[in-house]
Amino acid sequence: DAEVALVGRSNVGKSTLMRELTGHSFDTGGKPGVTRSPNHYDWAPEDFVITDLPGFGFMSGVDEELREEIKTEIVHYLEEYADNVLVAILVVDGKSVIDIIDRHSGPDEIPYDVEMFHFLRDLDVPTVVAVNKMDKVDDEDERLDALCDRLGLYPPWKQWQDTIAPISAKRGQLEPLHEAVRNHLHEQERDDLF
Ligand code: GDP
Repeated sequence: DAEVALVGRSNVGKSTLMRELTGHSFDTGGKPGVTRSPNHYDWAPEDFVITDLPGFGFMSGVDEELREEIKTEIVHYLEEYADNVLVAILVVDGKSVIDIIDRHSGPDEIPYDVEMFHFLRDLDVPTVVAVNKMDKVDDEDERLDALCDRLGLYPPWKQWQDTIAPISAKRGQLEPLHEAVRNHLHEQERDDLF
């Protein structure tokens, strides 16, 4: 089956989003790092499988070596299945993403979210950045413009609504994500026709 892959650092709200998308319940705020292998679920209204990849980044009780291992697994999975992945959803926490990116930017450090975004683009996998927890963000436009800037997308973000989808998984406000994913799917159907 065609696949939509979900990636993101731990604690960005991936489980909450999965629950909203699939109707299954997931371990939210549970033991991080426990979900190691990719999990596949049906995405009900759409006709494909959604794959939840392990959360990445700092997790208390998970050492550096294991973190690197998880990251390597995610990268290998995406490389192996890139042809089957219709859309990747990179979930970030709108409240903290800019601070985290800036804290990890340096001469020999690339922040995970930025690295993953470019990696997916290099694999030719259409990518939507689901900017979650927007219910906690006051200056929405400013935040999303800053994110575009960090990802190398020319602001304003409104030009990138197929790529940047502000959502609140907790409140079930997901329309921008559905819209962006739908547009990518239709784009591919058109490409398949010609
Ligand atoms: P995961 O580690 O990425 O799977 O993250 P979880 O789904 O477990 O969520 C981590 C925390 O963020 C939990 O406390 C959630 O209730 C909270 N959370 C998830 N989505 C949202 C959201 O849209 N808004 C707010 N304010 N909190 C959220």
